[in-house]
This record gives sequence, structure tokens and C-alpha cells, in this order.
Amino acid sequence: MAYEREQHVAIEAVTLAAQLCQQVRQTIRPEAIEKRDRSPVTIADFGSQAIICKVLSEAFPADPIVAEEDAAALSQPEMAPYLAQATEHVQSIFTEATPETVIEWIGRGNGQVGQRYWTLDPIDGTKGFLRGEQYAVALALVEDGEVKVGVLACPALTLETTDAAGVLFRAVRGAGATMMPLSGGEPQPIRVAHSDDAAHFRFVESVESGHGDHSQQQELARAIGMTTASLRMDSQAKYGVVACGEAALYLRLPSPKTPDYRERIWDHAAGVIIVEEAGGRVTDMYGQPLDFSLADKLVNNQGVIVSNGACHEAVLNSLRQKASV
Ligand code: AMP
Ligand code: MG
Repeated sequence: MAYEREQHVAIEAVTLAAQLCQQVRQTIRPEAIEKRDRSPVTIADFGSQAIICKVLSEAFPADPIVAEEDAAALSQPEMAPYLAQATEHVQSIFTEATPETVIEWIGRGNGQVGQRYWTLDPIDGTKGFLRGEQYAVALALVEDGEVKVGVLACPALTLETTDAAGVLFRAVRGAGATMMPLSGGEPQPIRVAHSDDAAHFRFVESVESGHGDHSQQQELARAIGMTTASLRMDSQAKYGVVACGEAALYLRLPSPKTPDYRERIWDHAAGVIIVEEAGGRVTDMYGQPLDFSLADKLVNNQGVIVSNGACHEAVLNSLRQKASV
């Protein structure tokens, strides 16, 4: 299979990071540290990024990694207690970790978008992680602006077909998408919901009203005949739910609180390839493909529509009609 080594290394890195995240959530009540943009971060975000950047950069030293977190804040003297806690958790995975190596590993995620790069969200859905709900560890390889490999761990996700929480989704361009228990096991191919699967003709959206437009999303779903209430969950677990057919649609329209927001590449790259390789479709709210070739933001896109393919045009048409009245 193409990208054999890349996907193997990515799965290993993400699985180890997910272990750290679950360990943090089980041992302490994770504490939110406020970032400069006032969004929360935890020691698990830092620990997860340290582990994944270490594993990736050792396997692919020439590849830039564009990751969400920045080591600068954690290096400040007043952050020493958090750095010590993060280091302790990283040591349970890599015994050689020290506060200095943890900072250095996190810093390897400061790469730039280029012809070939990895993008990482060490904890996507930090707010869900803090609430004890859904979160994900999301890693993707991008080449020439196209996502080629995506690995998405959802440690708290239980699906209709799984009996324990913890799912690992994986996709390689042209080779399909699979899921397997995060604890190990055989990867199973996944497919999006069939167009006549009425039970799953429903949509997923963010829990956070600041990350989408709940009222417009509900209106849009109604306009295409979706009458079932939405499923709200944090993180790219939403992409996983569409990819395995448990919902037909994921709607993410710009929140009225931040109409000019541009989505971050690490919030979407892994999810996009998993849904596309499961037979679905992903565009922005104007029907354009998401452009991962430019920057760490999707500067040319607004809103994200993720579907089983079958209902995608109806959603876009409904949005166009609304825009023209
Ligand atoms: P979710 O868990 O789907 O609500 O998405 C979480 C992600 O939303 C975070 O990782 C942030 O990068 C991103 N985010 C932050 N602010 C906004 C915003 N105003 N609109 C959309 N997404 C946002
Ligand atoms: Mg995120």
C-alpha cells in the first residue's frame, strides 16, 4: 500500500498520545490553562504533542510538522509546575523524557505548510476533554495541498457497532478508510450512510455555539428534510461518525459571534480524508474543496459541510438559495 510507513508511524504516534490523554483524564481532573487567545489548553495537549512530534520527527526528519500548540508559554518560569506534570506523563511513555526534551519535542511542531507536511491537533475538542466528553487526537499528512494519510483517535467514542469506548480511524488516499478499537484489533472498512438509511439521516454539529451556527444549521437540515434532532459532539469525532455511517451530515457554518473565522487545518485534515475515503464528500459552504496548500488556516474557505455524498448537493443548493434571497 502507498504511504505504508507513514501510516504505520502515524498510528503508533497517535495511539501513544491517546494513551497519555486518557491517563491524564483518569488520574487527575484536568485543569484548563488559558492561552493568549483565551482558549483552554491542558498538560495533556502538551504531552500529546510532545509524543507525536518526537515519534514523527525521528521517523521523518525532513518533514515539517504544523501543530496547534506552542512551547513558548510552557517554558515560562510560572508554568514550571505544569511542565513538570506534563513531563511526568510523557515519561510513562518515553522514560527518557525531561522538561527540556518535552519543550524541545513540542517545538518540533512549529513547522510551516509546504509541499509535504504533517498537521497535528494533539487534543482536538479540548473543551470536550475538560467536560469529560468527546475529544480526538488528529494527525494528517498533506502533499501538494491534498491530504494523503489521516489518523484520528477518539478515545471516548462508542459507536453502535463497538462495545467499548475508543476508536481509531485511519485513511490512505485511494486505499479506503478503516476503523479499529483503540485498544487494538483488526481494522474494519467503513462506509458512509446509504441514501435510503432513514435511521441515520441526521446531522452532527459542535457542542460549542461559538464554533458554529446552531440555528442556521438546524434550519438547513430541515430544508433538506432532516427532522431528527442533531447529535452534538466535540472534536473531529464528528467526521468519524459520518464516515462510519451513523450520521449523514456534519454542518459547521460560521458562528454569528465570529463571522470571519477561518478554520485551522489541524481541525479538519484527518477528518476530511477519512470521510472522503469512506465514500463521503467535504466542501466549504460554497461547495469549494478545502485548500490545505496555503497556510495553517483555510484562508480560502468558510464553513465546512461534510456528508455521505448523497445529500451534499441538496445542502449546497439550499445554502445558495438562502444567499440569493
Ligand atoms: P469543535 O470541537 O468541533 O467545537 O471544534 C473545536 C475547534 O474549534 C477548536 O480546535 C478550535 O480550533 C476551533 N474554533 C475556535 N474558535 C472557533 C470559531 N470561532 N469558529 C469555528 N471553530 C473555532
Ligand atoms: Mg482543535
